[in-house]
Amino acid sequence: MFIDSHAHMSSQTQDLDAELIRAKEAKIAVIMNICTDLSSLEKGLLLALQTKDPQIYNIAATTPHDVEKDGEHFFPIVEKAATEQKLVAIGETGLDYYYEHAPRELQQLYLRQYLKLANRLQLPVVIHCRDAWDDFFSILDEENEAQSTKTRGVLHCFTGTVADAKKVLERGFYVSFSGIVTFPKSTVLKEAAKYVPQDRLFIETDSPYLAPQPFRGKKNEPAYVVEVAKVVAELKGISLETLATSTTKNVVSLFNLQL
Ligand SMILES: [Zn+2]
Repeated sequence: MFIDSHAHMSSQTQDLDAELIRAKEAKIAVIMNICTDLSSLEKGLLLALQTKDPQIYNIAATTPHDVEKDGEHFFPIVEKAATEQKLVAIGETGLDYYYEHAPRELQQLYLRQYLKLANRLQLPVVIHCRDAWDDFFSILDEENEAQSTKTRGVLHCFTGTVADAKKVLERGFYVSFSGIVTFPKSTVLKEAAKYVPQDRLFIETDSPYLAPQPFRGKKNEPAYVVEVAKVVAELKGISLETLATSTTKNVVSLFNLQL
């Protein structure tokens, strides 16, 4: 069995039932559903109740792209859902200086708020970080220093170098690889996938975005996480079964899932 550790199932309205059937056929036992606004959170909570195979777990926060538009409005909603134990983690939050859809200061402010919330509720975080490594690490370190316990989490859709991966691992985080690692030109990322130890590795689709080879350019879906798994297993020189077992164990451990 596989776990898709990051998919935006409830942000879409089309093909959901068909995607869930194909996910089951592809042995995807669990999908971690990322909710980024009120509508996707409401749908995600319903989906988690209605779907048993694959099992759906919800995670929520405003993405760094949308903090200017949605940040203030959505934060108390995430806080309430998390307090009521409807979420297994907080995210995706983080910094994106590549697109910079929201001012950097605002992205940093919400990253800090979400880290504080996660720490207060003892929940892990799902982090999005693009072209913002220095600021991300210094904010995480500062927030960790101010708290009694270190925040646990995963760096989702990792696109950094071996050196970046090393810093992520040093902070106790897991590293998650998406379809980008399957692209032939992703040589730096492939090196990072080789570097990350098996017990710190996640796989994800980030669907409906970023379909892996050989589905590149099409709409992505959780069943395709198997294609990510195949490439990562090959890079690490391990069998697909071994990779499926270890990544499943890692996701279950971080999000404290009761399977
Ligand atoms: Zn995402």
